[in-house]
Amino acid sequence: MYVPHAIIFASKQNGKKKSVNQENKIVGIGYNCMPNGCDGQLPWTRSADDRLDTKYPYVCHAELNAIMNKNSADVKGCTMYVTLFPCNECAKLIIQAGISKVIYLDDKYHDTQETKASRRLLDTAGIPYDLIFDSINPSGMRNNAAAERDEEAEED
Ligand SMILES: [Zn+2]
Repeated sequence: MYVPHAIIFASKQNGKKKSVNQENKIVGIGYNCMPNGCDGQLPWTRSADDRLDTKYPYVCHAELNAIMNKNSADVKGCTMYVTLFPCNECAKLIIQAGISKVIYLDDKYHDTQETKASRRLLDTAGIPYDLIFDSINPSGMRNNAAAERDEEAEED
C-alpha cells in the first residue's frame, strides 16, 4: 500500500490576469519505490553498517516518479506538491523539468546538507517553494486540490 508523496499539477492560465481562472489538473503522481524490476531484490531498510545495505542508494524518490509518470508532453510551468521538502537530487530534476513552483507539507530535514543544497538550487534557479498552509490563496488552487481528492475518495 503506497501513499503518493509527489503530485504535479498543471496550472493553465486562461485569463488575462495571472492567478485567475487557473485550471488545475493532475498530470503526474509518484511515490518512493525501487527502480523497475528491482522491487523486493534490494534492501528497504533505513540503517545498516554498510550504506549499500540500506535503501538510500537505490530508491527512486516520489518526485522522480511523478515526473517520469507524467501524462502530458511535459511538466513545464506546473506546480509540484510534495509531502516532504525535496532533496537536492530531486531539486535538480524539478529545475530541469521546468516545474515552476513547489508546495510542501513537511520540512523535517530542514537542516541536513541535502535540504540546504536543495534550497540553494531552487533559490538560484528562481523556483519558489511554500509550505502548503501558506499557499492558500484567492485563486482557489487548494480548494480545487481538495475537491479532486474528495472525488477520488468517492470512487473508492
Ligand atoms: Zn529526492
